[in-house]
Amino acid sequence: MRQRIAVIGAGPAGLTFARVLHRHDHPVTVLERDPAPDARPPGGTLDLHEKLGQLALDKAGLLAEFQALSRPEGQAMRILDPDGTVLRDWRPRPDDRANPEIDRGQLRDLLLGPLDVQWGRSVTEVVPGTRDGVLVRFADGRQETFDLVVGADGAWSRVRPAVSSATPHYTGVTVVETSLDDVDTRHPDLARLIGDGSVAVHGVNRALVAQRNSGGHVKVYAQFRAPLDWHTNLDRHLGLNGRAGLDATLDAGRSPGLDWADVEAVRSSLLALFDGWAAPVLDLLRRGTAFVHRPLYVLPAPHTWTHVPEVTLLGDAAHLMPPLGVGANLAMLEGAELAESVAAAPGPGDLDEAVRAFEEQMWARAGKWAEFTMAGLERLVSADPTEALALFDEVQSS
Ligand SMILES: Cc1cc2nc3c(=O)[nH]c(=O)nc-3n(C[C@H](O)[C@H](O)[C@H](O)COP(=O)(O)OP(=O)(O)OC[C@H]3O[C@@H](n4cnc5c(N)ncnc54)[C@H](O)[C@@H]3O)c2cc1C
Repeated sequence: MRQRIAVIGAGPAGLTFARVLHRHDHPVTVLERDPAPDARPPGGTLDLHEKLGQLALDKAGLLAEFQALSRPEGQAMRILDPDGTVLRDWRPRPDDRANPEIDRGQLRDLLLGPLDVQWGRSVTEVVPGTRDGVLVRFADGRQETFDLVVGADGAWSRVRPAVSSATPHYTGVTVVETSLDDVDTRHPDLARLIGDGSVAVHGVNRALVAQRNSGGHVKVYAQFRAPLDWHTNLDRHLGLNGRAGLDATLDAGRSPGLDWADVEAVRSSLLALFDGWAAPVLDLLRRGTAFVHRPLYVLPAPHTWTHVPEVTLLGDAAHLMPPLGVGANLAMLEGAELAESVAAAPGPGDLDEAVRAFEEQMWARAGKWAEFTMAGLERLVSADPTEALALFDEVQSS
């Protein structure tokens, strides 16, 4: 008899897991909180590494389709210092397929293919060890049981408490994201600054990164060290009052905190925070549209747990780490590997052994990457901006 398997979350981890099981003709129930695939903006571009995300797509039989969609030229990387001097201008060779970029929406659609995802199914709790297997409770009051539940439900996983008491903590680095549309026609000067891939500018304890997505869309990330509640009192937390750009906000009698819906107030505070940087670099913020606050959280590393039969975790639910270009890659490879192990397990006892072995492998690999990305974040947003350049040189030469 086939095991009843559910995966919670239709992100890169959950979809890759389901797609590889589908390839092996193994049934799987995919339960996703979002009401529809395009219910939220899908987020920025992802670079998929040859030995991680691309290997996962190969296991799903989707590598050729990925190669047709992805942007190898998106690997280009330019590094500037805050006065606009170009410090590095790295371009990939035409045949370089090591880390091509793909839009998240394109990746999601590629993975979705024939999968029958149950949208609008928000899981609230998972209870292993009931008489009929592992119980899944939903926000609408319904419940179902399975033989194995895979938590691929991201940073704030509702499955994680079934195996671990760990919770994400703030890294001390926050990100404010904005974007530009039709950059080649509406902002040709910025299109030239960004090039085919990304541009990164590193200053003291702050950085500005702009990344090209497909269709002339650009995501801009302002990254800086700050207390989590920095936006509640700009003067107390960032010493910004009186700095260029903020005076108008304060003169207008606004509160010392930021209203995220007030685009011009957010823009002024960011411009004050990056005061003194070269005008073409600051134009990335001046011309951005809406702003979204994304403080960076991580799970303790390595994050392991005492194995609990019937439940496991994948991706950010298992090992949330700083966004240095590996989270989705690991999530996908883990999804593919777990699916292959599950498909190869002949009976219930074998299924549990397969999950145990998978967890050991995941913990060892993710632990190393978590260490690497945490150390990387310390250097990318650092009191000594030359650390960011040194990190880039080390990664390029390895
Ligand atoms: C700014 C930024 C840039 C990044 N760039 C890269 C990059 O270039 N390369 C890279 O590899 N990684 C990158 N990452 C990291 C990457 O985005 C994550 O590691 C990756 O998305 C993790 O995939 P996941 O499937 O584990 O989780 P998620 O992508 O978070 O997906 C989880 C899914 O579960 C659903 N869900 C959540 N809760 C519930 C619930 N209770 N019930 C049902 N469903 C639920 C969510 O709606 C979502 O669809 C970046 C991250 C950020 C923030």
